[in-house]
Amino acid sequence: MSAPIALSYQAFEDWAVIWLPIIFMALIAVVLVYMLRFMPRTKPQEIKPQSSDSISWDDVAGVEEAKDELREVVEFLRDPKRFKKLGAKVPKGILLHGPPGTGKTLLAKAVAHESNAQFFAQSASSFVEMFAGLGAARIRRLFRIARKQAPAIVFIDELDAVGATRGNDVSGEKDQTLNQLLVELDGFGGGDDLVVIAASNLLDKLDPALLRPGRFDRQIFVSPPDLKGRQQILRVHTRHKPLRDDVDLGLISRQTSGLTGADLANLCNEAAIFAGRERRDVLLTQDFQAALERVVAGMQSRRVITDHEKRLVAYHEAGHALCSELLPSVEKVHRISIIPRGRALGYTLNLPEEDRYLKTKEELLDYLVVLLGGRVTEHLVFGQITTGASDDLKKVHEISRSMVTDYGMGTELQSKQLPAADYSMADATRRRIDEEQQFITDHAHRRALKLVSGHRSLLEAFAATLLNSEVLERGDIERLVAEHEGVQPSPSRLEPLNAGGTGKPRIAAVEGTEPAGPARDPSGA
Ligand code: ADP
Ligand code: MG
Ligand code: ZN
Repeated sequence: MSAPIALSYQAFEDWAVIWLPIIFMALIAVVLVYMLRFMPRTKPQEIKPQSSDSISWDDVAGVEEAKDELREVVEFLRDPKRFKKLGAKVPKGILLHGPPGTGKTLLAKAVAHESNAQFFAQSASSFVEMFAGLGAARIRRLFRIARKQAPAIVFIDELDAVGATRGNDVSGEKDQTLNQLLVELDGFGGGDDLVVIAASNLLDKLDPALLRPGRFDRQIFVSPPDLKGRQQILRVHTRHKPLRDDVDLGLISRQTSGLTGADLANLCNEAAIFAGRERRDVLLTQDFQAALERVVAGMQSRRVITDHEKRLVAYHEAGHALCSELLPSVEKVHRISIIPRGRALGYTLNLPEEDRYLKTKEELLDYLVVLLGGRVTEHLVFGQITTGASDDLKKVHEISRSMVTDYGMGTELQSKQLPAADYSMADATRRRIDEEQQFITDHAHRRALKLVSGHRSLLEAFAATLLNSEVLERGDIERLVAEHEGVQPSPSRLEPLNAGGTGKPRIAAVEGTEPAGPARDPSGA
């Protein structure tokens, strides 16, 4: 019985020896054909001028300094001869740098539109191709075509994509692309009415070769808008929206410190959507408030939080609020919410009276107390420490570090800047920095604890109201402070400090906090 099996097995073996390799190779061939079919085609993409979307100067708001610098470029492109006759050298490479959403692309479009120049926009990431050399070829072609159609603007977005410091680029593709860009920048002189504008988020990551004279030697910082700028941007984005008369763009701009132009555009759009959902034909203040909450803290989360979590969050936010109410130099709390939205379980919205660029050491120290107020309260009330304070702690770390290393606000290291990446720094100095930083945060921690535990009834009142209605508005806060502290809330920074004689007792409460070491008060007092 075993013979036939052995025989057929033998037959199979013969068959397999011949055919299996053939089948195998056929399979590989099929796979290869498929791969080639579906590989991204590097078909030369057409290069032609794009529309600047009729973006005019009036559409770009709140970035006056950048606009002023770019006006010169517009004048040149409008009438290059006028400048050339005078032998003037005009800027050819301009680098706009600043956080995303501040209006860099918008500015480039406005320059093109205002100067009637052709607008060639390319994202630098599109130069980074799978095959070495293609990116460089694309750049060459872009400049050749743009030059022919001058006056023109070549706008290179996301310059970081090719302009990041050379090195760690395995294929060498980025290097080739960058080199070609440098060649083009060097190659055109006064003859071409061509201006290259590039945009980048991070200036210090760019290859220094790009920033050399004759290349992107004019760098314009596009900063997030200040109070006035935000109001102007809001005006731009509500131009074609019907607002009821009582909508106060000034108030909204005061609530949106730190938001960029793109955030504000988004805010106005969200407000219109809220109004539309309510089937109204005008936008009301409440639409903007709802939009603001959404934009500031992300979309309303559907996650259900437990009662315990909710209590934790309520006390945490109440702790922040209590500290900022009781410390006179800190911005007033505008609204606290414990409705979970996005990543943030709760938030405290402070309402700055003005945009300020200089802060005093006292203000920074007070701010650290406010930041630590949340965590300290959790621990005081629940005897627990949670992960909820990580953003607060990160800020505390950054601010206290900068205080010592950048601002010379340490006790002993007062007259030196100590850059973090200074490798020549002695170990002893490094240790000193750590100690100074530790001292500052310890002190803030003690002050927060003293403040929160010393005003327990106010804390409980804040937390109870929060748990009850999930939000605490400015009016509630003022009422509760008056009830529990017997004084008006801390005077606004714009008023004289002793306005109405009500500021005193509360300041005294803060001054009562002494640091541990007698000679080492971080406030320098
Ligand atoms: P960036 O290029 O700096 O990332 P964008 O120019 O792409 O920012 O801005 C995105 C959108 O945000 C714009 O189309 C515009 O609607 C809005 N925006 C940004 N900055 C401003 C500004 N300064 N003025 C008016 N709108 C702005
Ligand atoms: Mg952009
Ligand atoms: Zn917090």
